[in-house]
Amino acid sequence: MDIIISNGKIVKKVSERKAAVIDASGMMVMPGGVDIHSHIAGAEVNTGRLLRPEDHFKDVEAKTALTRSGVGYSIPSTFTTGYRYARMGYTTTMNPSMPPLEARHTHEELDDTPMLDKATYPLLGDWWFVLEYLRDGEIKECADHVAWMLKATKGYAIKIVNPGGLEAWGFGRNVKSINDQVPNFGVTPRDIIRGLCKVNKLLNLPHTIHVHTNNLGIPGNYVTTLETMECVEDLATDNKPVIHITHCQFSAFKGSDWRTFKSGAEEIANYVNKHSHVTLDMGQVVFTDTTTMTADGPFQFGLYQLTGNKWVNHDVETETSSGIVPFRYKRKSAVHATQWSIGLELALLIKDPWRIYLTTDHPNAGPFTAYPRIIAWLVSRKARDKTMRRISRRARRNSLLPSIDREYGFNEIATVTRAGQAKALGLAWKGHLGVGADADVSVYNVNSEQVDPAKRYKAVRRAFQNTAYTVKGGEVVAKDGKIVKPVSGKTFWVNANFSSPFEVTEDMKRRFREYWTVEYDNYQIPESFLHASAPISL
Ligand SMILES: [Zn+2]
Repeated sequence: MDIIISNGKIVKKVSERKAAVIDASGMMVMPGGVDIHSHIAGAEVNTGRLLRPEDHFKDVEAKTALTRSGVGYSIPSTFTTGYRYARMGYTTTMNPSMPPLEARHTHEELDDTPMLDKATYPLLGDWWFVLEYLRDGEIKECADHVAWMLKATKGYAIKIVNPGGLEAWGFGRNVKSINDQVPNFGVTPRDIIRGLCKVNKLLNLPHTIHVHTNNLGIPGNYVTTLETMECVEDLATDNKPVIHITHCQFSAFKGSDWRTFKSGAEEIANYVNKHSHVTLDMGQVVFTDTTTMTADGPFQFGLYQLTGNKWVNHDVETETSSGIVPFRYKRKSAVHATQWSIGLELALLIKDPWRIYLTTDHPNAGPFTAYPRIIAWLVSRKARDKTMRRISRRARRNSLLPSIDREYGFNEIATVTRAGQAKALGLAWKGHLGVGADADVSVYNVNSEQVDPAKRYKAVRRAFQNTAYTVKGGEVVAKDGKIVKPVSGKTFWVNANFSSPFEVTEDMKRRFREYWTVEYDNYQIPESFLHASAPISL
């Protein structure tokens, strides 16, 4: 069928005489890719760049007449990030982890990242005000505060990382289960997750709470993940998701230590298949040299101790923590290869592709440029078997993959790389090619009617590496793997109101003066600070 574009939108018809035509016969056409979780901007990402000169000089992007130069394999510079996404047919990327205090820097880098529409999620799970409201059972007041915060930081969704654990980390401690007490606040991770889930519903935010679980990266943590999903079960109504578990691979570990480490993917998938209130993304491991970075300070410190690598641990005043450790995933490591298997097991055992999305938690489990390789594993058992033959014997013996025959079709790939993600994000004008959608279109050079992806997975992988055409907002921006028109995207943020007008108390301003290096008035990012502000009013 024909897809008709006018003024950056997909429309019913235009006058034919004037229209430029792209002949996509024999090719596969999809909406522009949408990435729900990819660390591309902000203080943490930039510190990762500073920490790793070796990551720069092994991957250099030369300038062209149209594009700027850049560097970086696992943490590419801003322009290179935009170009590489556009070449793969992605047009929207969500930056999932922003300390509120560092919102300004994050937006500066997002503005500097071309080719993509984007948004960013402020870290609110260990924010002092939130912890106090939840301790006092003041859900409505908390909702007011979160609405203010989304506006103040120009944020899109509530991000929760190791809830309570990051506050505990300020005292060199952590929490070990969702029922542990957070020091000094008299709340538990369960209270934080449930409380913010209620806040999310009160504000009617476009996305659900976005959760990096407690105990992430620790053997046996699949139990915590099950408890995390269970703890908001009763808050779900009308079959709608109320929680997103991000990079679930890192939270699906079985075993009591690294020697007995095994996959917990089956237990997670069984739960997800029986419950409709959860969405997840993969956090798929690829065998490569990459850079791990999360707000989960205690986890990153553990990873530093495990690897002995150079590292950064940082506390963002009273708000959150963070850490960065370079990391190489090796085929012959039983643990790494099992992690590789877990991500794919999750994607293949969870039946509904609308609820599990393709990510690598870029750059944590591998750079986003590895997506085409992951697509090949999803569509082809043969591709999985081939990798399987080269991994650690112990990992191979324990892997569930040999028992899984499922192979994704192209429709399922479209779902896990754009349609499902757009739906989970509440971006109604993304992820599809219906009338009214943004004219973001990817044309891949593979004939979906003739090619059996399970057999010709190499051709599929090649096709997803470089589009024949990437159309962004109605303009051809990439063609045959080359950027032909640099464009800058919009920044979505949520302009929510719960009770208006929200009264900022003198007490709140006083506390900003006392506890933060930035005063209340300077804390807020004015809308004029964003190059292309796209508020979503609720
Ligand atoms: Zn992440």
